[in-house]
Amino acid sequence: MLIVKKFGGSSVANAERVKNVANRIVESYKEGNDVVVVLSAQGDTTDDLIAKAEEINPNPSKREMDMLLATGEQQSVALMAMAIHALGVPAISLNASQCKIASSSNYGNARIKNINSERIFNELDRKNIVIITGFQGINKFGDVTTLGRGGSDTSAVALAAKLNADLCEIYTDVDGVYTCDPRIVKKARKLKEISYDEMLELASLGAKVLHNRSVELAKKYNVNLVVRSSLTNAEGTIVKEGSAVERMLVNGVAVDKDVSRIAIIGVKNEPGIAFKLFSMLAKAKISVDIILQSIGRDDKKDISFTVASTDLNDALKVMENNKDRFAYEKIDHDDNVAKVSIVGSGMATNAGVAATMFEALYNENINIRMISTSEIKISVLVDKNDADRAANAIHDKFMLESEVR
Ligand code: ADP
Ligand code: ASP
Ligand code: MG
Repeated sequence: MLIVKKFGGSSVANAERVKNVANRIVESYKEGNDVVVVLSAQGDTTDDLIAKAEEINPNPSKREMDMLLATGEQQSVALMAMAIHALGVPAISLNASQCKIASSSNYGNARIKNINSERIFNELDRKNIVIITGFQGINKFGDVTTLGRGGSDTSAVALAAKLNADLCEIYTDVDGVYTCDPRIVKKARKLKEISYDEMLELASLGAKVLHNRSVELAKKYNVNLVVRSSLTNAEGTIVKEGSAVERMLVNGVAVDKDVSRIAIIGVKNEPGIAFKLFSMLAKAKISVDIILQSIGRDDKKDISFTVASTDLNDALKVMENNKDRFAYEKIDHDDNVAKVSIVGSGMATNAGVAATMFEALYNENINIRMISTSEIKISVLVDKNDADRAANAIHDKFMLESEVR
């Protein structure tokens, strides 16, 4: 079998863990498999590099930021190759440039466009274990890009798709996908399997166990995907095409603490304002999430919306720079918020799900700041301090800890 195995930052955090992972990889290789490994930067390396940059320039160039961040993954792959060599097994590390992972040009959030599999297959033919840097790509200028936080999952799935791998295993510090982040909800239940669509929704709403684009790609190319633990042999969670019969009312709860709310106070109460505002942001490649517009009073109204916290400064800058095109009284922003969401493909046909969710929050005396709904999810914005309590209350209310509901 050709297997792509991805190990996240905590799984390779120190020498002991690198050696432990090396052993697991070699075990699979000795069973006769062709093994391609994708690695993240060790432990908190990426966060540390970001902090280092900020010490020097609070507003660093995105290109230089990617040059810096990509070094984390490069350290991991070289160290892993050394650990495998120490076990007497041939291995070679490669970065994005060496295996030609072509990406779009936008630094910090690039998308993989293509991968040249030739070098990888050559190395596999030479009986090497091939260890590839996650998280990075090369754009049309030949420069290093990164794929967004958590992007190594996407590197792994993209490689699995391109190499036509039999299996893509995402090894992490939990032993599968749960009904909610098990660090937040102790009673969360591990799922045996989850559909691509539900996983995509959970990941997009903040369940960072998988990078959302990795799930998108897995669905598109029908990649055999499993999430499991790098520390135990517990059976993981299979992510696959879902069957309609299994549709659950609510499948899981997601918590996203990396959101910020922006409020534009006192814009003109006339047609075209929302269009101008959101097209400006779209041009700057800033995704806007929940949007709320107040009822107009006199000739003024307010618009609030949420963005990813990493986009907050850029969003504020866009509005500041366009102040003459777009008159407003003032702009407020708030980092102290979190988004809590429920996901379930059976939700669309069932009345009362929203009411049940809001009741759970009311019982905990948690104030809802914003609401957004779609066919398969409901999200609320709450104070960051209330987020974990909200997730637990909602999880309890929908009895997600038990399989039969
Ligand atoms: P890695 O470094 O291996 O990529 P991440 O920290 O990116 O690991 O993702 C794993 C983490 O995802 C877990 O430690 C857990 O806290 C979090 N998580 C969030 N939602 C879920 C969920 N529904 N099921 C499992 N883990 C989740
Ligand atoms: N090292 C990168 C990050 O911390 C990519 C990843 O871990 O997936 O976001
Ligand atoms: Mg991750």
